[in-house]
Parts: sequence; C-alpha cells; structure tokens
Amino acid sequence: MSTARILSAAALLLTSTLTSGPVVAGDAMVLTNARIYTVDAERSRAEAMAIDESGVILAVGSNEEIVGTYGTGIDLKDRMVLPGFQDAHLHAVEAGITANFCLLPQFGSKADYEQALTDCADELSDRSWVIGAGVNMAALLDSLEDPLGLIDSIIEDRPAVILDDLGHGAWANTQALAAAGFDSLTQDPRGGILVRMEDGSLTGVVLESASQTLMDVSQPPTPENLDFALKSLSGAMEILAANGITSVSDAGGYWPRGHETVWERAEAEEILTVRASNALYLYPNFPLDRQIKELKKRYSNDPARLVRFNQVKIYLDGILSQATGLLYAPYEASLGLAPEENRGFAYFTHEDLFRYATELSAAGFQLHFHATGDRGTGLALDTIEQADATSGPHRITHLYMIAPKDRPRFRDLGVVADFQLAPSSVGSSYRESIAEFIGGRAGDLMPLRALHDAGALITLSSDWDADELSPLVKLQTVLTRDREGAPNLAAAIEMMTINPARLLRHADRTGSIEPGKFADLVILDRDLFEVSPAEMSEVQIEATLLQGEAVFDPTGLLE
Ligand SMILES: [Zn+2]
Repeated sequence: MSTARILSAAALLLTSTLTSGPVVAGDAMVLTNARIYTVDAERSRAEAMAIDESGVILAVGSNEEIVGTYGTGIDLKDRMVLPGFQDAHLHAVEAGITANFCLLPQFGSKADYEQALTDCADELSDRSWVIGAGVNMAALLDSLEDPLGLIDSIIEDRPAVILDDLGHGAWANTQALAAAGFDSLTQDPRGGILVRMEDGSLTGVVLESASQTLMDVSQPPTPENLDFALKSLSGAMEILAANGITSVSDAGGYWPRGHETVWERAEAEEILTVRASNALYLYPNFPLDRQIKELKKRYSNDPARLVRFNQVKIYLDGILSQATGLLYAPYEASLGLAPEENRGFAYFTHEDLFRYATELSAAGFQLHFHATGDRGTGLALDTIEQADATSGPHRITHLYMIAPKDRPRFRDLGVVADFQLAPSSVGSSYRESIAEFIGGRAGDLMPLRALHDAGALITLSSDWDADELSPLVKLQTVLTRDREGAPNLAAAIEMMTINPARLLRHADRTGSIEPGKFADLVILDRDLFEVSPAEMSEVQIEATLLQGEAVFDPTGLLE
C-alpha cells in the first residue's frame, strides 16, 4: 500500500521540478480529469481533488483550481470518483469460514444426503468436527422421516453439524447435540427450537439461536481456529476492496468464537481495507446480567481506529420462509411449531428485551435489530421507544414486512431502515416461495420507497455472504425494481454512502468527498449518471482507496 504512496510522491516531486507551477504542499496526491460526484450537501460535481499524506482530502474543485494550487497529478481520463461504498450489514468473518465448510445439496433425496454426508466425512477426515452447510431445513424435514438416524448412521465417531442455507437452522448428529447440551433438555433453550418427533425425541434439526449454540461449540476460539478465521477475514478484505467497499458493519459478532479478537488482530496486522463498526451478537439463552457485563467489556468506539465494536445485534424474530418471522396476523402454513407460535417466534421475552435495550444503549451500544415480520419490526420500534434507548441512531435490518401504521415511526423515532435488495429477494420466485407461508402479504415485501417517502433514513446493505455483495448489482436492482425501488440514482448512491456513514456515526469523516474528510474513494470506469439503470452491473470498479491508500488497483491506475 505504501509503495503507491511513495511512487506518487516521487512522481509529484518530479513534476514540480519540471514545471514552473506553485510548490506542491507536502506529498499531496492529486487526481485530475475525473468525474467526481461528491455526495456533499450540494451534491456537487468536480473534476479534480488533492489528498494529503495522511489520506485526508485537502481540496476538491476544477482542474485549474487544483492543478494551480497542488500541481499536476494522476490523469483519471474521465473516470468517475465516488465516496467509497459503505455496507452496513454483512458477515465478513463468516463469509470466509463458511466458504470452507463442506457443501451439501440445498434440496435432495435421502440418497443424496447420504452420499453428501459420506463425502463430507471423507473430505474432513482429519478434523475433530464435521462441519457442512447448504441444506434447506424445510425440505429436509419434508423428505426425511428420521434425520437424526440418518446422520448418525453415516457419522458416529465424532460430532457433525450441517448449517442450513439461510443462517437460521442446523442439522446435527447425536454427538454434536450432546456437545451443545441439547440431549438432556426437555424444553427448548430460550431463543431456539429443537424440532422433535411425535414421541418427543430429537430429530437432529434445530432452528434459530440453537443453531448458533452448535456453531459456538464446534468452533471454540482455539489458536488454530482463530488463525483460520483471520485468514478467512483477510480473503474477505480482498473481495470487499474489489467491490469498492471502504466501510462495513460486520453483523456476525459471535464473541464466544472470538470474532472480535479476529478483527482486532486484522487491524494490528494491517490487513484491513475497510473501516469496521461491528456488532456483538446478543444471546437469548445467556444469563442477562452476566451477558451485559461481557458485552460492555468488549465495547470499543475509538474513531481514531479502523475497528470498533459499538453495536449489539439483537434478533427479534426468525425468517418468513421458516414461519419464524413475527407476524401481526397468523401464518398460513408452518413447520410444525407449537400452535401458540402461529404468529412466529420471538428470541427474547419483552422484559429481557427492554432491559437489554436500556442498559446496552446507555453503555454506548447502537441497537442493530434483525426483524423480518411486521410484528418483529413493530416490536423493534416499541423497544427503542419504550426503553428510551440512547446512543442512536439505532436501526432495523432486513425489514421484509412493515405494517403501514409502523412506517412513520422510523422518521419519528430517528430509526434507520436498513434494506437488502438482492436480485434473488426481489424476484417473483422468492415471492412465490414466501407466499406459501404468508399468502397475499408476500406481494408487499421490503417497502423501501414507502419508507423513503415517509421520511426515514434508508441504507442499502448486502447481508453478504448470505446475499449479493456487489454495490453495482444492488444499484441495478434498486433502480429497476417495478415499485418500492429507489426514486433515482442520486438517492440510491446516498443509501450506500452518506446514509450508512450517518448510521455508523462517522459522517463527519467519511461518506462524501469534502475537504477534511478521509479519502475513502472508489474509482469507476464510467459515469454512473450516463449509464442506464439496467446496465449498472456492467460498470467496472477500477480502484479503491482507503484513506488515500490504494487497497485495490489491479491495473496500476494510481501508481
Ligand atoms: Zn445478516
């Protein structure tokens, strides 16, 4: 990273001795002949900018103004410069880790699962746990009479756990269930569901937070596991940089697995290409007072550092496609949950939720709520309101369903609406699959435009690696959505730059291109305002800068 900096400084020294222009101030990096879209208050356009040696923007203006003061620099030949994209909800540590789990078919027959499990056991023959991923649990429960018997018949010598395709369930063998302490329970753990046979015995399938307990016991923070997670995160950094993303919020934050240690090591070892305002996962089954103490111990919010743990991730409900999102009106089909749960599944009791919200927000944490159903969304708003939560802005992420009565409350309470509009989740096949559970309500999912019109601050994040990461694909999706898309390109860009910067509490230093802010930038091969909405995903990212340093520059544009 510093090589590019030294080279550009050397180039500048050379130009300033060759030309008779003004003396260059320090080692400024100068970018000229660019289509700069600043996202400042005036949504200005500029042609050139100068960046000081610490990566702070010195000046933004016309070619003449900048070259006149700072000398000539790198000719960007009409490429577009935007503030770096900010992705306020993704899973960077997990993305790398899950890519290394053995993969099972999403849908399959008994024979398919048998074959895949046998292959996994062979592939991971040197590991103490067999960990796989990718199975759809609704389909599995439909096609297998005895999931536990099947997995035990293939893997019995060590624990095995297979994560689902949605991050809300897992399939475990007897050894894994015992390691999580589930074999001795007669009731579900708080926040989790142990799917049982009619006679009360376990099926091996667990849903919601119980699947995180299994992941915790399968991946303790041993030195090997932490090294592996760090390597995974390092791989994720390259992908983020190639996508022009310079700020993120990691929504995983499974601290019993050492996720916060991994981020801190990544910062210390200087492999980060992003600023990260991360969340810590709130366990519904942990003793309340002890958990508050543990989370407070891990809180960090130093704006001088790249990594902060200043949010708490609170799941209010599950997911609609598992009939566990919280609804105001009952589901039309379910996965065999108890009749009192025909309106979905709550991770927390109201009482615990309000105490956590009050105490953690008072300690400085922003509340990062997961809600998919309309009642889940309403409950998040109630919690923020009734807990009198300080330390905002707080936000609700996913937001598949928002009741009309709750829509103005986002603006009134200053709550950020964080949507993920992946091509897969706005398509008709997804709508049809959800309709099986919620009927006609599936026609009105993710009402982004309605929230925008109701005055809410909106952010567009990815939920990578569960969903599409590319900001350009998201721009295309949100600009071509028939209704409930973004009103225009300028608004969509705001939802991925300055709006998440406000949410992540660093809009004073990032999110727009203005003197005094960090040069967190993305350089595109053409001007987005001259591209048709349906062709946004064809735009190429040519370089990414974090605080003036090139973290992605495959063609040497900035050298
Ligand atoms: Zn997520």
